[in-house]
Amino acid sequence: MAPSSSASPAAGLSRPVAQRKVRPSADYRRRPRMSVSPPPKKFRSMVEIMKVAKRVELPVEEEEEDDEESEEEEEDDYGEVVCEQCGSGERPEELLLCDKCNKGFHMLCLRPIVVRVPIGPWHCPHCSGDQHRIIKSFSQKKIVDFFRIQKESQMVVKCSSAQDTRKRRKRSLVFHKRRRRLSLYIPTEDPHRRLVQMASLASALTVLDMEFSDELTYMPGMARKSSNSAKFESGGMQVLSKEDTETLEQCRAMYKRGECPPLMVVFDSREGYTVEADGPIKDLTILAEYTGDVDYIRNRQEDDCDSMMTLLLARDPSKSLVICPDKRGNISRFINGINNHSPEGKKKQNLKCVRYSVKGACHVLLVAIRDIAKGERLYYDYNGYEHEYPTHHFV
Ligand SMILES: [Zn+2]
Ligand SMILES: [Zn+2]
Repeated sequence: MAPSSSASPAAGLSRPVAQRKVRPSADYRRRPRMSVSPPPKKFRSMVEIMKVAKRVELPVEEEEEDDEESEEEEEDDYGEVVCEQCGSGERPEELLLCDKCNKGFHMLCLRPIVVRVPIGPWHCPHCSGDQHRIIKSFSQKKIVDFFRIQKESQMVVKCSSAQDTRKRRKRSLVFHKRRRRLSLYIPTEDPHRRLVQMASLASALTVLDMEFSDELTYMPGMARKSSNSAKFESGGMQVLSKEDTETLEQCRAMYKRGECPPLMVVFDSREGYTVEADGPIKDLTILAEYTGDVDYIRNRQEDDCDSMMTLLLARDPSKSLVICPDKRGNISRFINGINNHSPEGKKKQNLKCVRYSVKGACHVLLVAIRDIAKGERLYYDYNGYEHEYPTHHFV
């Protein structure tokens, strides 16, 4: 409503000192393509602003519907915006402003916590309707359809395969001591429990309006399948061994039979969706492939999908690829990243996202890096690659 370029404090609506385009330098979650070095701060410090700012009286009830897009150019009028949750106006650099109601919210006071400043428009929980808590129930038939489980597998009635897996597993453990082979996950034996696990994923995907996909997908208008070639990787990419490739194929086949990894998607009021081990998981177990639509990084620079994953860092940056699990994906997109700036964060890490060349194409696998106990939450380090591969061209 009010033109925000107005220099008059009375007419101009107040914004928090830090504009929303600011990015915090720590605690990125689900933001694998971030560079290692903290991004430059684009806001002025409170001290600087206080030197030049006049004090502004805010109207008591602000009715303004401010929809214009020019917020970056706006004057930094210092207003007493406070957080709707905690009532404090402190830490203004963490205050997000709702693009609809203009009310302020600390990123850490929101539930789930907002861990980075959104790139696009942001709406507060009241304005967005906050539907993320709805847990839908799924019948067995619905789950079979949702995951396109092969009907002949009769996932609930029959459960002999868990034993087979155990036998296979024993063999592979012997191997991995010598050769560090990756191993198959062991599905939960109880078929009803597996249904609960799959329902938790189906529910979370449904809330995000996503389809299940256990493979990388190539959609019209995005990167083509031929663009995903490991030979474009700057410095080359490690090749998944023949044995490990077989293990990966077995994982995929098991999923098609409804033998999912022992994982549960849970909703945490602070972290949002997150994933827990629903049974013990051994070191070096492949839990899933990171899946979603493959696209060029250059097409996604302004994208607000919070789960993009690096797939290919090409010598020619315009050929670099990301996995975007915003329309299709699997459980990987619900696993959170650690804060790799703190020792506590690093301690939580129990998975690694590893990129491999599999039959000439790049794939990202989620692999356990230690034994994981039942009930433990899964975490990996989003910035894992970026320590090895400089990503100066990223956001
Ligand atoms: Zn607050
Ligand atoms: Zn709002």
